[in-house]
Amino acid sequence: MAITSTAVKQETLNPYEIVQRQIEIAASHLNLPQQEIEFLKRPMRVLTVNFAVKMDDGSVKVFEGYRSQHNDAIGPTKGGIRFHPDVTLDEVKALSMWMSFKCGVVSLPYGGGKGGVICNPAEMSKGELERLSRGFMEAIADFVGPDKDIPAPDVYTNAQVMAWMVDTYSKKKGSFQPGVITGKPIILGGSKGRNEATARGCVFTILEALEELGKKPNEATVAIQGYGNAGRIAAELLTELGFTIVAVSDSKGAIYNQNGLDLEAVNACKDAGSLANYDKKYQITAESILELDVDVLIPAALENVITSVNADNVKAKIVAEAANGPTTPEADKILSEKGVLVIPDILANAGGVTVSYFEWVQNLMSFYWSEEEVNEKLQVKMVEAYREVRFLAKEHQTDLRTAAFMISIKRIAEAMRIRGWV
Ligand code: GLU
Repeated sequence: MAITSTAVKQETLNPYEIVQRQIEIAASHLNLPQQEIEFLKRPMRVLTVNFAVKMDDGSVKVFEGYRSQHNDAIGPTKGGIRFHPDVTLDEVKALSMWMSFKCGVVSLPYGGGKGGVICNPAEMSKGELERLSRGFMEAIADFVGPDKDIPAPDVYTNAQVMAWMVDTYSKKKGSFQPGVITGKPIILGGSKGRNEATARGCVFTILEALEELGKKPNEATVAIQGYGNAGRIAAELLTELGFTIVAVSDSKGAIYNQNGLDLEAVNACKDAGSLANYDKKYQITAESILELDVDVLIPAALENVITSVNADNVKAKIVAEAANGPTTPEADKILSEKGVLVIPDILANAGGVTVSYFEWVQNLMSFYWSEEEVNEKLQVKMVEAYREVRFLAKEHQTDLRTAAFMISIKRIAEAMRIRGWV
């Protein structure tokens, strides 16, 4: 991501330090004993694994991966597995903590977990990816489980990767164990609506925020930074609702048309490679997509894209964080002073884990719901969560992120206290 040296000097871009700061800010409104906060500021368990993968050219490569379990006071830990060259242990720890607070906001009976493998899937063949996915699951199999820690997709992992992982885990345990992982293909016990859930959940929160601003979808323009599972499906769902998508970007290119992009052409270009190959007259720089004069900006890629360096240039009225950790605490302060309504990641992208929870429940019951049923239940969860966060933010005069953290911290602290941990 665009990390400038100025940003590094002015503020930390280490996600682990950032989430600890966010906890401190929320805790300052809560009057909790310090030892409870200290416990929440660290993951309970972290596993580092190194495992060998046979590459197509006959060589063997050793990959490093992590699985972090933040807190299981409320229930088993839950969260995705990321394949990316820039994965770090601190990032995975932070992401597992954001998962705890995310599950808290939508009141799921889970704590937070996260995994990551340092690798570049774009440079790997399908066979190499399969062996990597199976190798990682093999290495973490005793650490995870349907009632212990339940992985799911994240950046550069998908239903196929989950299928390989559930297969490896099941073979190891001697019977099919669909509840160990979510985001699976439907035929293996995946839930209808899971693939679209992160985007759909994000859209529900945007609709709530837009109503507050007194605007209608067909009067609203949108810029989306990141065109993966969340960003691309959000573009499609928002278009169906009447929003105008004026700009989108991926890791290689960004495009802008103030009258609205032709999504069919955009998708065809993306499917053929990257947005960098789109009609040159619409190309803009990667940084400028965050600074367009739009109603809604959706960061839907990686961490630290809105920092103290560019926050003041953000012109969007609503920032809906489909990505995890796109905004630093310093940027949060600047956005809040400017009156930008930030729907924080732990609320805006909670739709994914919410339908993961539905998937896990369906696996445990071996009884499957229709897509309408899943989407209706998702809408209820997202709208309730948004309103609860909004209410608390007004009451305590805080931004939505702080209020969302407050709700979750209170829940986890209470569970830890009642269990006699703290
Ligand atoms: N990786 C997604 C997230 O960051 C989904 C996690 C899950 O479904 O468990 O929320």
